[in-house]
Amino acid sequence: MAEHTDNQHDIGKPFDCIILGGGPAGLAAAVYMGRYLRPTLLIDEKAPRTRWHRPTAHNVLGYPAGIQRSQLLEWGRAHVALYESVQTRNATVLDIRIHKDLFVLTDDDNQRRVARGLILCPGIEYLLPDFPDVFAYAGISMHHCPECDGYKCIGKHVAVIGTGRGSADMALNLTTWTDHITLCTNAQDPDCDDECVRKLAAANIAIDLRPITALTGNPEDGKLEAFVFADGARLSIDHAFANLGTDNPVELLRQLPLDLQKGRWIKVDHRMRTNIPRCYAAGDIVAYAQTQLSVAMGTGATAAIWLHKELLPDTMCLAREW
Ligand SMILES: Cc1cc2nc3c(=O)[nH]c(=O)nc-3n(C[C@H](O)[C@H](O)[C@H](O)COP(=O)(O)OP(=O)(O)OC[C@H]3O[C@@H](n4cnc5c(N)ncnc54)[C@H](O)[C@@H]3O)c2cc1C
Repeated sequence: MAEHTDNQHDIGKPFDCIILGGGPAGLAAAVYMGRYLRPTLLIDEKAPRTRWHRPTAHNVLGYPAGIQRSQLLEWGRAHVALYESVQTRNATVLDIRIHKDLFVLTDDDNQRRVARGLILCPGIEYLLPDFPDVFAYAGISMHHCPECDGYKCIGKHVAVIGTGRGSADMALNLTTWTDHITLCTNAQDPDCDDECVRKLAAANIAIDLRPITALTGNPEDGKLEAFVFADGARLSIDHAFANLGTDNPVELLRQLPLDLQKGRWIKVDHRMRTNIPRCYAAGDIVAYAQTQLSVAMGTGATAAIWLHKELLPDTMCLAREW
């Protein structure tokens, strides 16, 4: 992202809005703020955080063959750059606090920026099993999201790696596309209650407890062929779904008195408003988010619309909530 900032909005001259995170949610929010002519700063890290190799994203209206995420972000940044009131900064925000009703953000270049409003869009990172070459398959045949990639699995051999009701639920959901599913716990306690066991058995989904020692496949084209177990046996697979949790920026979030779900997800109302006045959140970091590009963009837009209304002076509105 081309950097375009000035220093006049340091303590003393606040931005109307700082948007933390320049993914689909933050970029969508920035477009709205630009069209509201709001002095806004979008802060996004210098390099993408994610190690997922992901050529194509699906379910985005108008792109039936999928859209490269990097292309979508590039177009989003070009769109945001059209609006003079929006500045961008490439840095990692390390510290957020509230001082005299203003949000004060300090980044890794030790630059401090202040704003009346804040939209938090830092995203999350999906965890993968710990195999040396796992990122060669990630996003091509190693997935985390049935909504994104289940459609590729019609009639294919699929494994879910994980434990507990969430993994059992994912395995059951995948029967939408295929009957060839195995739930692999990779030597962990399956943590499946009676309902899980009963429904998995009824769907012909085996639970395999053996430790997985290696992945085989073609790292060049990213296509998995099998899991290799500690006893030397192989499970042939075309696709795998990891349900191993997420890495959320909890240290950052806990610097604010935010209501968090399970200490990791930002609770918002239907306007994407947090419990803190003039502080909104959007995208994957929101509690119960459907982690999809279209949803991230939609929630970013919603956050910007309602922050704009909250910032309007009384003389410019009759009601703030319709
Ligand atoms: C492998 C994979 C495949 C996917 N496939 C699909 C698909 O097919 N279809 C679909 O609809 N969705 C898909 N998704 C989901 C989609 O990509 C996400 O829902 C969407 O990117 C979330 O947008 P976001 O803006 O909330 O977060 P992100 O896209 O994660 O963006 C967050 C941004 O904030 C930045 N940031 C974080 N912390 C800081 C900080 N402290 N300071 C400054 N910047 C910070 C990050 O660097 C990043 O640029 C996929 C996701 C993954 C990982």
